[in-house]
Amino acid sequence: MSKEKIWLSSPHMGGREQSYIQQAFDTNWIAPLGPNVLGFESDLEDYLQNGTSVFVGALSSGTAAIHLALILLGVSSGDEVICQSMTFSASANPILYQGALPVFVDSEPDTWNMCPESLEEAIKDRIAKGNKPKAIIAVHLYGMPFKADEITAIAKKYQIPLIEDSAEALGSSYKGEKCGTFGDIGVLSFNGNKIITTSGGGAIVVRSKELKDRAVFFATQSRDNAPHYQHSEIGYNYRMSNICAGIGRGQMEVLDEHVSLRRKANAFYSDYFSAIDGVKVLEEPNSDWFSNHWLTGIVIDQEKTGKTSEDLRLAFEKENIESRPLWKPMHLQPIFEKYPYYGTDISANLFKNGLCLPSSSNLTDNDYARLEDVLNGFFF
Ligand SMILES: *Cc1c(COP(=O)(O)O)cnc(C)c1O
Repeated sequence: MSKEKIWLSSPHMGGREQSYIQQAFDTNWIAPLGPNVLGFESDLEDYLQNGTSVFVGALSSGTAAIHLALILLGVSSGDEVICQSMTFSASANPILYQGALPVFVDSEPDTWNMCPESLEEAIKDRIAKGNKPKAIIAVHLYGMPFKADEITAIAKKYQIPLIEDSAEALGSSYKGEKCGTFGDIGVLSFNGNKIITTSGGGAIVVRSKELKDRAVFFATQSRDNAPHYQHSEIGYNYRMSNICAGIGRGQMEVLDEHVSLRRKANAFYSDYFSAIDGVKVLEEPNSDWFSNHWLTGIVIDQEKTGKTSEDLRLAFEKENIESRPLWKPMHLQPIFEKYPYYGTDISANLFKNGLCLPSSSNLTDNDYARLEDVLNGFFF
C-alpha cells in the first residue's frame, strides 16, 4: 500500500467557496465579469488598504498582471527592464512579450531577494551604457518581503518605476505595511499552489482609479467607447472569470488562518533544524519583517552535514513526499543566459544547496509525524 502524497503546497478550501459559485450559477453570471469579480476586488482592497489608496484589478493570472504592469509603464521594444534573477520565470517572461530586454540582478543572503547594492550597480552601468532601465521587477520570494526601504529608495533616487511581484507574498508585510503595496504597481497570484487560490488567477494592484480602469481596459480587449467593436490599442483577454472570483471570495475568509498555518509549518522546521548544525532555514531578519512563509526554504551546508539537498529531496520522494529545489536563477536559464547579469554567486549557491519543504496549510498531525520521521532518518 503506497502512502498518501504530501504535496509541497496544496490548495486548501475554506468551505464557503461553493456558495459563491452557486450564487454565480443562480444569477447566470458565468462570465469574466460579475458580482464575484467586483466583490473579490473589494475584499482585496480592504485587506491591503493601510491609509493609502489601493485599487485592485482581478485578472486571469499573475503573469498577466506583470505583463499589464509593463504595458501601463510604457515598456516596449528595445527597452531594458531590471529583474530579480532568483525567481519563477513568470516574473521575467512578460519582459520578452514586450520585446524588451531583461537585465538580471543577484540576491542578498538575508531575504534571498534582490540585492540593493547589485541593483544600484546595474542601474548605474545601464545608464552609463546609454539605456536607462524602464522598470524594476523585485520579488518577495517564498513570502519573505524584500528589503523594501532600500529597494524603493534606489528606485526613487533614479526615478525608475518599481513593479512588486508579490505573487507569493499575499498576507506578508514589512514594517506593518502589506506586501503588494510597496511598488508603483503590485502583482498577486492565485494559482493552485499559492497561499490562496482561485484555481488560476491573479491581480494587479495600483494607486489610482484611473490606472485600474486602464488596466481593466487592456485586460478586456481594449474596446473603445462605441456601439460597435472599435479598437485603437492592442487588447488582451486577461480578466478574471466570475466563477474563479467566487472561489477567491471564499478564500479571502480564510487567508489569515492560512497565513498562521503556513507560519506553523515554518516554526516546525525552524525548531527542528535549530538542533542541526549546517542547515539554515530562511527566517525573518528582524521584527520589521512578517512573512506568510508560503514555502519554507532551507540551505544545507554540505561540508558540515555531509549531505546534499538533492539527497534529502530523494529521501522525501521515497516516502511519497514532495519537496523541490529553490528557484533556479534566470541568468542560469538557457532562455535568459545571454542577457546582462549583475552580482556574484549568491543566488547560484542558494539554488545549488537549497530545498523547499512541504508547507501546505492543510498538513495534518500525521503528515508532520511522517516529515519528522524522514528528517530523523536522514540526519541521524
Ligand atoms: C506564481 C508566480 C507568478 C505567476 O503567477 P501565475 O498566476 O501563475 O501566472 C509570478 N511570479 C512569481 C514569483 C510566482 O511565484
